[in-house]
Amino acid sequence: MQSILKVLYPHICLLCDCPTDNPGLCPKCWADAPFIDGAACTQCGAPLLGEAAEAARCDTCITVARPWDQGRAVFTYDGSARKMVLRLKHGDRTDYAPQAAAWMVRSAQQMPMINPVLIPIPLHWTRRVHRRYNQAGLLAQAMAKQAGWEVLPRGLTRPRRTKVHENLSREERFTNMSNALTICPSAQIRRRDVLLIDDVMTSGATLAAGTEACRAAGAARVFVQVLARVTLPP
Ligand SMILES: [Zn+2]
Ligand SMILES: [Zn+2]
Repeated sequence: MQSILKVLYPHICLLCDCPTDNPGLCPKCWADAPFIDGAACTQCGAPLLGEAAEAARCDTCITVARPWDQGRAVFTYDGSARKMVLRLKHGDRTDYAPQAAAWMVRSAQQMPMINPVLIPIPLHWTRRVHRRYNQAGLLAQAMAKQAGWEVLPRGLTRPRRTKVHENLSREERFTNMSNALTICPSAQIRRRDVLLIDDVMTSGATLAAGTEACRAAGAARVFVQVLARVTLPP
């Protein structure tokens, strides 16, 4: 009986632990997952109403400077996607990384990158010690492995401990992050396309700081791929 079930349902859903015939999510959790698969903002990946247009931007990205060339998100930060991000970040569910990375690779491949080098958004080392891993680093490494891309897991560093963003306004987040990230001197990104990786984009302040650091180190173009985009103002 066990082996028949295993043939019929060879996978376990990442969210509800039910047996399923799909890798990743069961049909119920899949239906609840807010995948962005229609028209999307070319800078932050937020879903847009209507037909997909070239170089379409959402209302936020029209008003907030986005120094990177293009960006994409797999999900909006809702429902099962939110659950997945929180478990990956705080719940020690590092086993989510390969499936999340597969979705992120598929999403990133829609951008016109040439032989990109992947760099995760870093945590300050004191936070990494506390949490034991950097979820963005896990995602970047899994993506690189699956797509055959180069990855620099410590390419960006966060030399000073920045404030936690949760209770800051959008302006305070940008001020808090300005010059907070630097490219490690040994990271060779001159004239390369860089793909910055993070789990969530909220204000975009951290990704903007990462982009500035990459440009200062001579990157050709900078692209952004996140797992989930927070689409409502925090
Ligand atoms: Zn499920
Ligand atoms: Zn946008």
